[in-house]
Amino acid sequence: MAKFYFENDADFGLILDKVISVVGYGNQGRSQALNLRDNGFKVIVGNLKDAYSDQAEKDGFNVYSIAEATKKGDILLILLPDEIAPEVYSREIHQNLKKRNVLCFASGYNITYDYISPPGFIDLILVAPRMGGPAVRETYLRKDGFVSLIGTGQDFSGKALNIAVAVAMGIGSVQGALLSSFEEETIIDLFGEQIEGMSLYTTQLAFETLIEAGCSPEASLLELYMSEEPSEDWRNFARIGLWKQLRGHSRTSQYGQLTRGQLSADTQTRKLFAGILDDIKSGKFAREWMLEQKSGLTVFKRLMKRNLSHPINKSEESLLGALGKEKNLSPREPTPGGGKKAKRPG
Ligand code: NDP
Repeated sequence: MAKFYFENDADFGLILDKVISVVGYGNQGRSQALNLRDNGFKVIVGNLKDAYSDQAEKDGFNVYSIAEATKKGDILLILLPDEIAPEVYSREIHQNLKKRNVLCFASGYNITYDYISPPGFIDLILVAPRMGGPAVRETYLRKDGFVSLIGTGQDFSGKALNIAVAVAMGIGSVQGALLSSFEEETIIDLFGEQIEGMSLYTTQLAFETLIEAGCSPEASLLELYMSEEPSEDWRNFARIGLWKQLRGHSRTSQYGQLTRGQLSADTQTRKLFAGILDDIKSGKFAREWMLEQKSGLTVFKRLMKRNLSHPINKSEESLLGALGKEKNLSPREPTPGGGKKAKRPG
């Protein structure tokens, strides 16, 4: 039976007098730091001296170099991009760790694949929000909160799990903290992202199919996602249930989904999923991604360029323009981990 922890299970006394160093003030870093401070914890920030650290200072935090924040902190929340964290850890963090520090990751990746190997004299915990960075703050402010996966990698103090629960609730995971592990979080997270990638490609394929059949790009895009009706369906998967939500659709739609939908759930797809999962579990995907970064992101840039030059992009822009929603258009092209970080791959 899955084990969930809630606010009542948290012993905040374990972290109340501790200095929590938030290392990295990006998507997760800023939101988690603000939530923890608003909940009454002592938070400092470790970051390079740049726009992110300026933002942290503007938000009223004491900002230090990552090495300094490691020395000053008791609990270290490592909120750096996963592909950058190993290099920063070995350069600034490892040698500055003290006995009884708590090292907390928001993703299992670097521990699972041994890109980071902390010393034995600390607690190693996982607090991984199932929520994007900005929404970690927004849901906290709305008092909704979110769910996190938690786990322990090393339990030096004998209290690592209790500390993970307290940190999870401190950052706002008041909808529940599910007991998981570094390895499980890594597998689920990567698998989920990669399957979502399959949805992107199949949606594009569906668009091409409709255009080839003479349908207008605008009507096709509205049907496939731009009306936000499908997003509403996805919300209902979570709120009502994958199949139960079908009751909200017409009978014709239900019949079409039940019969045509199952065409993709065949042994071929099952094999595809198994292959994707194997590459994650064996570490093949992680090794490939590491090599890709070392060799200048050739495949990454080629695929991104190819997909961003697909006619679907222009059609989206003209539809948003026609609907008076140009402001939704992204001001910059997506890059690995965001524009700024792309300059310094690990
Ligand atoms: P971001 O990409 O937003 O992290 C940016 C931070 O990393 C900034 O503070 C940036 O500071 C710092 N950084 C980048 N490059 C370097 C470098 N070379 N040296 C030092 N600092 C650097 O990361 P996220 O917040 O998205 O992710 C943080 C963690 O949270 C990851 O483990 C991720 O897997 C996990 N996570 C993320 C979720 C999400 O939705 N984003 C959801 C759940 C978990 P600067 O550039 O100023 O140095």
